[in-house]
This record gives sequence, C-alpha cells and structure tokens, in this order.
Amino acid sequence: MTETITKPSLAGMDRDALREAVLGVGVPQKQVRMRVGQLWRWIYYTGVTDFEAMTDIAKPLRAALAEGHTLDRPALGERQVSKDGTRKYLIKLGPGIEVEAVYIPGVGRSGALCISSQVGCTLNCTFCHTGTQALVRNLTAAEIVTQIMTARDDLDDWPKAPKDMESRAITNIVFMGMGEPLYNLENVAAAMAILSDGEGIAISRRRITVSTSGVVPKMHDLGEKTQAMLAISLHAVNDELRDELVPVNKAYPLKDLLNACRTYPGASNARRITFEYVMLKGVNDSDDEARKLVQLLRGIPAKINLIPFNPWPGAPYECSSWERIETFAEIVNKAGYASPIRTPRGRDIDAACGQLRSESIKKRASERLKERLAAQEAS
Ligand code: SAH
Ligand code: SF4
Repeated sequence: MTETITKPSLAGMDRDALREAVLGVGVPQKQVRMRVGQLWRWIYYTGVTDFEAMTDIAKPLRAALAEGHTLDRPALGERQVSKDGTRKYLIKLGPGIEVEAVYIPGVGRSGALCISSQVGCTLNCTFCHTGTQALVRNLTAAEIVTQIMTARDDLDDWPKAPKDMESRAITNIVFMGMGEPLYNLENVAAAMAILSDGEGIAISRRRITVSTSGVVPKMHDLGEKTQAMLAISLHAVNDELRDELVPVNKAYPLKDLLNACRTYPGASNARRITFEYVMLKGVNDSDDEARKLVQLLRGIPAKINLIPFNPWPGAPYECSSWERIETFAEIVNKAGYASPIRTPRGRDIDAACGQLRSESIKKRASERLKERLAAQEAS
C-alpha cells in the first residue's frame, strides 16, 4: 500500500529525470537515449496512462518501469463546467495543498488553459481573491506540467493520429492562475521547456504567456530563459494608486516597470506585451486615466486588455459600468492600441480572473481578509 503511494510518476519529468529512471532499471548506456525518446513520446505526445500501451517497448522493460514508477497525474479534486464551456479543475497536490487550472474555449486557434505557478500568493493585490490566500508553496515543474496533462485527459485532447495535432482543444497556455510566476521562475522555465518540446506536447513558446504583477528584476531573465509572451498586470497609471492596488509597486515603481518592458527580450510589433487593466468602478476608470495609460505606454509594442472586475465574497470593489468600460476602451483604441474587453468567462463557477483560490489554509486566509476589511473601515 505505502509502496504505491511513494512510487514516483514519470508524468511531469524532464529528459534528465527520465534518463535516471531508465538507467535505474538497467537499460544499457547505449540504448538510453532511444528509450528516453520513446518514453517521452508516450508520455507527452500520446499521453498514455498505462505502461502496457507502450507497444514499442519490450514487455520486460515495461514491467520493470512499472515496478518503480507510475504515469499518474495528481488527483483531480473537483471539476466544474460553466454554462459558457469554461472548465475549472481543482487539483490536489498533497494533503491540504490544492491549485486550480481553468480551460477557456475560444481563445487562440482553439482554447487556452490558465494555469497556476504557486499555491496561494505572497503578494496582496487588493482586488484579487488569490491575494487573500497566503503562499503555501511554489509548484514544482512537474506540478505545473501535469496541470496541462490533467486538462488534456479530461478534454480527450491527446492526439490519436498526427492530424489531431491541428485540432487540439488546448493551443495556448497562460500563467494567469494562482501565484506570481516570476517568484517561481526556475520551475516555470523548466515547465515551459517540457511543454514546448516539439516531440511532445509541443505548444510553441509564442503561445505561452506569463503574466506578472511587475517583479522587475526577474523580467529580463524570463525573456532570456523562456521567450515567453509577457503580460503585465498594470491596473493603475500612477504610483500612488498602484502602490495601493498592486503593492509590489512600492518595490518596483511604474518607471522601472515600463523600462523593463521597453527592454524585454523579443518584444516587437509581432510580439506585443499585453497590459492587463482591471476596471474598478470609481477607482481607476476615468477618461483621464485612459489618456494617461496611452501616454505611459508610448514606445512599447503593447496591447491593452481591459478586464471587467470579477467580484468575490467580501471584495472591496465593484466593476465599472459597461458604458464606462466602453468609453475607456474607445479612448485607448483611438490612440491606436488594440484594447479588447475581456469577456468574463466562467463567472458562475468562480473560474474568472482573480476568482481562483483553493481552500488550502482557508482559515488563515479568511482571517487575513477580515483584517483587511477592518483596516479599510478604520481608515
Ligand atoms: N500573479 C500574476 C498572475 C496572475 S494573472 C499577476 O498578477 O499578473 C491574473 C490576472 O487577473 C492578473 O492580471 C490580475 O491582476 C487579474 N485579476 C486579479 N483579480 C481580479 C479580479 N477580481 N477581477 C479581474 N481580474 C483580476
Ligand atoms: Fe498574486 Fe497576481 Fe493576485 Fe496579485 S493579482 S495577489 S500577484 S495572483
């Protein structure tokens, strides 16, 4: 019994770890490369969950691999499907440690999977539900990769024939779930290497977007190491307000953030940086702020994503009115920036931006929220 629990899964491993696994079952050195290649294809291209399906690997070797390993994904705690087709997965990584991933159809060529990089978040953006949950821990690269594998299992999205690669449900990945990816850059980069590998899941790095609240010292590294598309959670056009909404701004103010965007490796008109701007009624949604936004972004290849605020229980904000959002968008548009308004997806199952929050350490998080609300009342 304990033996099955402790068997490591090959799902989520990189080539080095697979090499170790293969050597560990006595595969001769000169065959290692070939065996790793075969395993890689079965695990990441075909998505098998049973060693028996690996038909080009001899039975005794399959059995030896199965003896010490599984192909398991983390347990799926809950799966909810929204009226609009959005699917939210609650993934259990260990006792009391859970993260969420959200599949959003109709993004890119087909659909995007929004994944988490941490359990909880160390930052405390005031409008974000995840921010009310203290950081539990960083995810490992394998835990990041298996979010995609779990979603592909559920969506029956592993190719059965080469042509299926053209009609995959998940074509894009966005690191816009729980956590701040740049505080877990090493594992995010390692996960991206697995996800973008052309022999496996093969999601191109140009279709992987990493969103940051503005951890300036890590931005250049992100570009160099991963060639990811960059998204910035901007949300305010002056330091005073941004200090309040996105407190990491106190360490890395707007000027530094925008400079880091100007020098982000690979940014160009073909690879624009996305600026996310959550629309908070009476807080950051005036015409003046729309004009200031345009001025700030001058010289940066940018697109602006206006996000209607998604409410959560106890949230201290309201969403701007639809007319306000449209007027704001028009000002930005007239200045020559694409400014799509992000249609809220999956609101009915709390799967929309900023609504993600697992129940890990629920008590502590709700206490923090209470404290925050009390502090607001007092001020
Ligand atoms: N921590 C990273 C990645 C999370 S991305 C970051 O902050 O960029 C999640 C996106 O949803 C961010 O742009 C975030 O600012 C936004 N968001 C958070 N709470 C929200 C809410 N309640 N309504 C709408 N968008 C929200
Ligand atoms: Fe963390 Fe991003 Fe939420 Fe801010 S918006 S609390 S950085 S997850």
